[in-house]
Amino acid sequence: MELRFRASLVVLLCLGGVAVVDAGQDVCRDAPVAVQVLGSGGPFPRDGRASSSYLVWIDGRTRLLVDAGGGAFVRFGEAGARIEDLSLLAISHLHPDHVSDLPALLWLSQVFRTAPLPFVGPSGNDSLPPVDTFLDRLFGEADSAFPILSGTRGGGNAGVRLDVTAVDVTAAEPTLVLVTAELSVTALGVPHGNVPTIAYRTEVGGTSVVFGSDQTGANPAFVEFARGATVLVMHFAVTEATDGPRHARPSVVGQIARDAGVDTLVLSHLSGLDPAHPRYGDFSLSDLDASVAEVRASFAGNLIVAEDLYCLPVE
Ligand SMILES: [Zn+2]
Ligand SMILES: [Zn+2]
Repeated sequence: MELRFRASLVVLLCLGGVAVVDAGQDVCRDAPVAVQVLGSGGPFPRDGRASSSYLVWIDGRTRLLVDAGGGAFVRFGEAGARIEDLSLLAISHLHPDHVSDLPALLWLSQVFRTAPLPFVGPSGNDSLPPVDTFLDRLFGEADSAFPILSGTRGGGNAGVRLDVTAVDVTAAEPTLVLVTAELSVTALGVPHGNVPTIAYRTEVGGTSVVFGSDQTGANPAFVEFARGATVLVMHFAVTEATDGPRHARPSVVGQIARDAGVDTLVLSHLSGLDPAHPRYGDFSLSDLDASVAEVRASFAGNLIVAEDLYCLPVE
């Protein structure tokens, strides 16, 4: 099974078959609804992949940005995305591979947009602050890392103002975080070690896209949350032999996709170390074929291994 490909292509693994699909941004612009992978990588700078970031396009406009890990700034521009078109910027959790390009994306954003930008992220716990405090520490007018971006927090400097909501990650039921004429977005806390983390689901017309984020897969409510999704994006960081506390093993990813009855599963957040590293074998890129086979043992629907800038029409 061929899983290595040119940067502009992905392999679509259907039942027993392999199809190569173009990943050009025109696909996203022309589709009524599309999801685009900006960053298909994890926390390690391997394989030319940016860290976690995704767009949802509706009628040629970028309405939803989920996560902004390292490299998202460059991919956002390459995709032709526009901050002024966003209905929501949603952050799954505060690990740097999901948020570290926020300053780059928001710098001088007031040049493009004057309307406040709805922004949602996780509540806090003993180890991490809620997302609004995180943003104050980044961009607040006093004692922050980037006071020059205090406009994002209602101050007088640069940056479009963020209209921030912190979602309670302990809530048993999904939280509705946005409704517009085009889309709705709900959020659900998922287990990711001790890091408050959110999965997002967006409904557009009769289609739905679920972003599972980093998680162990141990919250059974997530299967209900993802039920019947047109597209489910799952993070695929570790190999089956790994017993880490933060990421779902490939077999668990496959079981979730099967149990939720999704049409298409996108495997992203692919992670790897240098082959000389003693933990090389813990991460998905060390043997992607073997990890995908673990998913295939339970999930028979469409299966896509993500590449940066890959665009998937949602229908
Ligand atoms: Zn991550
Ligand atoms: Zn994480």
